[in-house]
Amino acid sequence: MIVWGHKGYQKQVGQTQSPIECSNCKHAAPWDITEVGRKFTLYWIPTFPYARKYYLTCPVCQYGKEISKDEIARFLQY
Ligand SMILES: [Zn+2]
Repeated sequence: MIVWGHKGYQKQVGQTQSPIECSNCKHAAPWDITEVGRKFTLYWIPTFPYARKYYLTCPVCQYGKEISKDEIARFLQY
């Protein structure tokens, strides 16, 4: 019998190169880029990720929004 499962994970991708002014708390700071998704597990060992989503969040008030993978590259560019 093969045991499959899944497990949620969260990973810090990086920070934006330039400060963003938050429309919620009005602070300007580099925002955190976080990857959130799930991983299939085989015999409780995480394998490949799926259902990946990326979020941009204000480090001050945690206000955030979902962004696409293409947008990450744009935010991480020097
Ligand atoms: Zn904020």
